[in-house]
Amino acid sequence: MTEQSADIVVIGAGAAGLSAAYFLSQGANVTVVEAETQPAYHSSGRSAAMYIEGYENPEVQALTIAGKEFFFSPPDGFTEHNLVTPCGGLTAAGPGEDEALQRYLRAWQPDCPELVEIGPAETLELVPLLRSDWIKAAAYDPTWHNIDVHGLLSGFQKGLRENGGTMHSDFRVTAIDQTEGRWRLTAANASIEADLVINAAGAWAGEVAQMAGASNIALTPMRRTAAIVPAPELMGDWPLVHTVSEDLYFKPESPGLMVCPQDETPSAAMDAFPVDIDVAVALDRFVQVADYEPERVMHQWAGLRTFSADRRPVVGFDRQANGFFWLAGQGGFGIQTSPGIGQLVADIVLQGAQPEAAIAPDRFANGA
Ligand SMILES: Cc1cc2nc3c(=O)[nH]c(=O)nc-3n(C[C@H](O)[C@H](O)[C@H](O)COP(=O)(O)OP(=O)(O)OC[C@H]3O[C@@H](n4cnc5c(N)ncnc54)[C@H](O)[C@@H]3O)c2cc1C
Repeated sequence: MTEQSADIVVIGAGAAGLSAAYFLSQGANVTVVEAETQPAYHSSGRSAAMYIEGYENPEVQALTIAGKEFFFSPPDGFTEHNLVTPCGGLTAAGPGEDEALQRYLRAWQPDCPELVEIGPAETLELVPLLRSDWIKAAAYDPTWHNIDVHGLLSGFQKGLRENGGTMHSDFRVTAIDQTEGRWRLTAANASIEADLVINAAGAWAGEVAQMAGASNIALTPMRRTAAIVPAPELMGDWPLVHTVSEDLYFKPESPGLMVCPQDETPSAAMDAFPVDIDVAVALDRFVQVADYEPERVMHQWAGLRTFSADRRPVVGFDRQANGFFWLAGQGGFGIQTSPGIGQLVADIVLQGAQPEAAIAPDRFANGA
């Protein structure tokens, strides 16, 4: 059995773990351990790759904006390409949905000054694929961007290596023990010791916490499905379109058009796969609002979005297990918040900063 040691061990090489490792490695000796043979095999490799500031709740918005500068002007040498490309976002309302659209505008306009209401004609100009007998009004935000997820995660890994950190794949942690303040993580043929453990295990974060004897914090993995259909002939540089009723979105995505039913089906932590009915629901909803009937599905997938009870991430030290740090509950925003939260983790661990109470694990005293 190989035995190693580090100051800090991060469990999980998704967006959460890699971003934290990148920032932490600027001031500590960091090792990432990953169960799969490659990083980002689970949720982080299956996202819609969007950067949306007006998303989910004010805490998520703040954490997204905390990483804005990183996305828009990354450190020298981090990547050779832009990390974000503008695409815009359209929130579409059909018959009887005006009040829902007004609620959406009231909720997000104060913090998203470029978000404006537009009428059906302007909406159809932006996305001629929408059915003219369905679309009644929309909200448009030009600040939504596509993220180069591969570039982002490769940059984190490269930076980690340059800072002297390491990553071990095929390292599925099966036991976590603490002796005299030092953690020992055991996998099939290896073990590693560290002073601090960062739990960035995504859908498995609850299991990892249990192994370490940390607090019991309820986290629910939810399956989300996506399909790529052939690009309609008139496809242009369209924004992402989502319905204000939150039951569908679609956007140009190589090699065609990505369609998602915005499903949230509670799931066990697992290698998620798409269920036929969810893909069928996506296509059915799509043809209700779009003037295009795809003949086939080119590619389909599903991934897990893992939520805490209040849909805010869980970031900070555990109150029960000394030296055990939560970095979980990234829901549907773990890519866009990764630079912001990664930097925050380093500030807390290396500089002694305090996380906002709204995201600290302590808000779930003894298993909310
Ligand atoms: C369809 C879909 C669309 C999405 N769209 C967006 C979007 O547009 N923008 C956005 O910001 N977010 C989006 N998300 C959400 C985003 O993908 C997640 O929030 C993010 O990937 C979570 O990252 P993570 O590192 O916490 O989890 P993961 O990427 O799942 O990483 C956790 C890692 O921990 C490893 N692990 C688990 N247990 C162990 C163990 N015992 N030992 C070692 N390793 C272990 C796993 O193998 C895994 O690699 C979307 C998600 C889905 C599914």
